[in-house]
Amino acid sequence: MIRGPASSPVTTIFESTSRRAQARGAINLGQGFPDFPEPAELLEAAASAVRGRSNQYPAMRGLPALREAIAAYYRRTQGLAIADDEIVVTSGGTEALAAAFLALLEPGDEVILVQPLYDSYLPMVELAGATARLVDLQPPGWTLPIDALEAAISPRTRLIVLNTPHNPTGTALDSGTLEAIGALCERHDLLLLCDEVWEATLLDGAPHVSPLHVASLRNRTVKIGSAGKIFALTGWKVGWAVAAPALANAIAARHQFLTFTTAPSLQWAVADGLALSETWHDAHRARFSAARDHLTAGLGAAGYRVLPARGTWFVTVDLAASGLPPDDVVIAERMIDEAGVAAIPVSAFYAERAQKNYLRFCFAKESGVLDTAIERLSDFRGRIA
Ligand code: PMP
Repeated sequence: MIRGPASSPVTTIFESTSRRAQARGAINLGQGFPDFPEPAELLEAAASAVRGRSNQYPAMRGLPALREAIAAYYRRTQGLAIADDEIVVTSGGTEALAAAFLALLEPGDEVILVQPLYDSYLPMVELAGATARLVDLQPPGWTLPIDALEAAISPRTRLIVLNTPHNPTGTALDSGTLEAIGALCERHDLLLLCDEVWEATLLDGAPHVSPLHVASLRNRTVKIGSAGKIFALTGWKVGWAVAAPALANAIAARHQFLTFTTAPSLQWAVADGLALSETWHDAHRARFSAARDHLTAGLGAAGYRVLPARGTWFVTVDLAASGLPPDDVVIAERMIDEAGVAAIPVSAFYAERAQKNYLRFCFAKESGVLDTAIERLSDFRGRIA
């Protein structure tokens, strides 16, 4: 018999929502990718790399030019000093996460995960033979309760997993919280896996804070990045793990037998893209903040309670505070069928569907698409609230 990890559904909510949306011809604000024009500089760089450079296996840890570009990008944008032997380039953030889970965990270990959580974490923890302990963020601010985090630590705990900026809530951890987590990790001798794939999407000009900025966490943390998110080219699947050399070596040993390497043309293009000016990166981000403000204002005027989001491409809506029944799966299905707009139920980001009061909307869509969605959702709320 073929068995997968207990927590891997055959079809994810993302896929089933998209299928239902397609069948009904609905506007899809569920899927997490933009419909904006793709960055021409990156497309051109990839095309010329395919034609002009080697298409054979590149170095296992990533093209030296890309590793240099990643280090320079983090020095410039986050003030981090990262050495070449601290970077492993992978096939997307997803592979970096998988390699890290497999490298850091032994069967019987415990891992602390924070809900709502990204859907690959739980199946990967199980594939590594470890057990997850779950801690919930506290809505509506989605704050991380440090006392609950500490209460979840046992003698078997090896790893805490964080995600900042956070999908699906769009919140980001501040340095005070990271300092407190650093103290916990030191006291209990834990490692930290920090999924920072959304690091370039803080939309109000605030700098991203990484655990690598916290002295007590510098050598205990694996930071995950993704070019797919930085450049809004989600299908490219170029990501990386950044960690102190001993951790990076262990991750590289896993990466070697997961995918071994990643398309060199895309690595060249990402290296060029990371070196683009801050003006370019700011202009790229400005489209997303305009779209966030547009959807937030439009849904707000239509009577929806939209929770503030600092980053990612998502906002969450509080159903009860919007006058709607707090049953996200039912409302999401009715929204597709009756209003022609798809969103993702936030309960899908919980192991036991514990929280049913929120829907996640992707705002990274052209403004005409957002206008139509807002109009339809305004009607929908008028009919059922
Ligand atoms: N982590 C989080 C929190 C994400 O939202 C995503 C993509 N939606 C990933 C990891 C995966 O990144 P990639 O596409 O680079 O594999």
